[in-house]
Amino acid sequence: MSYLALAKQVEARLSGREPSLAAPFAQDPKPTPVPALCQALRAFFAMTAREVDGDLPAPEEAQALLSEIRRLWDDVGPAFAKVVSREEAWAYYRETRRCPYCGEPGVFHDPERGGEPA
Ligand SMILES: [Zn+2]
Repeated sequence: MSYLALAKQVEARLSGREPSLAAPFAQDPKPTPVPALCQALRAFFAMTAREVDGDLPAPEEAQALLSEIRRLWDDVGPAFAKVVSREEAWAYYRETRRCPYCGEPGVFHDPERGGEPA
């Protein structure tokens, strides 16, 4: 199991999606941000691909999504958010065969390699 998958499992338990395990944490109802960050990143990657296909997002839609990602990034913590983002980007690429960052088909511009195709 990857570190991200393990973290998601722990987060799911703590966030109450598994009620029997969440009971001891009932006094802390604050939702955990990792699944929300993954979802927001996916929406961003998909928006980028749509843009390449000529379906431009409304500026306020893009701005709202980026603001949400920044907020969730801080909530998760930048070091872990970077790990989450990298795994989500690779998962998106494996599923869609499009670069998560620029939407180009058939290539993954890996930030860890200075944007060179992986
Ligand atoms: Zn790219």
